[in-house]
Amino acid sequence: MRSVDEHLAEVLQVVQPLAPLEVGLLDAHGCTLAEDVVAAMPLPGFDNSAMDGYAVRAADVTQAPTVLHVVGDVPAGPASPLRVQQGLCVRIMTGAMLPPGADTVVPVEHTDGGIAQVRIDQVPRPGQHVRRAGEDVQAGETVLANGSVLGAAQIGLAAAVGRARLFVRPKPRVVVLATGDELVEPGRPLLPGQIYDSNSVALTAACTEAGAQAYRVGIVQDDGRRLLDTLEDQLVRADLLVTSGGVSVGAYDVVKEVLSRLGTVGFHKVAMQPGMPQGFGVIGPDRTPVFGLPGNPVSALVSFEVFVRPALRRMLGAAQVHRPVVSAVAAETLRSPVGKRSYLRVRLEVRDGAYVVTPVSGPGSHLVAGLARANALAVLPEAVDEVAAGSPVQVMVLERRGS
Ligand code: AMP
Ligand code: MG
Repeated sequence: MRSVDEHLAEVLQVVQPLAPLEVGLLDAHGCTLAEDVVAAMPLPGFDNSAMDGYAVRAADVTQAPTVLHVVGDVPAGPASPLRVQQGLCVRIMTGAMLPPGADTVVPVEHTDGGIAQVRIDQVPRPGQHVRRAGEDVQAGETVLANGSVLGAAQIGLAAAVGRARLFVRPKPRVVVLATGDELVEPGRPLLPGQIYDSNSVALTAACTEAGAQAYRVGIVQDDGRRLLDTLEDQLVRADLLVTSGGVSVGAYDVVKEVLSRLGTVGFHKVAMQPGMPQGFGVIGPDRTPVFGLPGNPVSALVSFEVFVRPALRRMLGAAQVHRPVVSAVAAETLRSPVGKRSYLRVRLEVRDGAYVVTPVSGPGSHLVAGLARANALAVLPEAVDEVAAGSPVQVMVLERRGS
């Protein structure tokens, strides 16, 4: 038996960040930045109006009402050909460049809205409603740091400073397959003894949520030849492979049988619950990492959280590969076998300003309904057999969709 930490250490040592490449902005969405993005220009790029109104010289409007001559319009887009001289103003639209001479914008709401001349009904504060060049970003400033994850706001910022392409670590391509002669594609009729393949669906979605580009191959029969052929076919599009089922000691556990013969994949009893049998290693000419996860659905998804997700985050080049862990109070007594690290399905809530966890399921690795209700996993260390109600416990926050 090896510990969770030993197994995870091997995984994180074998799995490396993917090589960076340059992609278009929308393809960079969800990827990790592999460069510092330095603004070549300030933001705003020029002094401009924050309101629809009139660009004036504050010195001309020291009392209200004041009437000024309007010498023209400045829409957003072109540079203003007009100069605002004493006693004059221009009508200006939001985002339009402040014309030379003007220093202040009077919103249209504070005027009579005149076109040839305008009556200003409130004395403006000098400089009001002007967005200053560089007040958001200075030219030469690093706006996005190497290693940041690119969400909508981040790729928007890259666009705002004029970048069309970015160097990123690409999303790892993950191929997910489920092994088992008892498995049936959801939606098809079931014969007695058969079950639906839920693992490959859940694991593919989990890979996507972790930031990967995931492909679900679906069901492969418990047949060594077929499994090897499928793996070989899939290797061309995979940076990582995930299988479920067939890793324990049963007579039809082909994943273990076939992959251990390759000599590059190890199968271990890992001291954890759920999820004890774990396969991990590399296969193929590119030494593609492969995870052989146990078939029980809860074991498969918990193993994903503990081993596969950190590996995917590492491939992405993410600064933080682990889920956030918080300290919470156990609402009920939690139990764990001594010598194994337990991951208990719990509901994490805030009560009276403190985190509280309540178990949502028994320990059975087949209890998928409870897993769907859980939004966190309480982690009971190897040496702990019980956390009494009211005592603190460490909790891995899943923050996944639907939680
Ligand atoms: P195995 O690891 O293949 O021995 O499977 C362990 C348990 O998980 C058995 O009860 C299987 O029927 C179940 N199981 C295996 N694969 C899947 C799957 N893809 N979806 C749902 N349950 C599965
Ligand atoms: Mg099986």
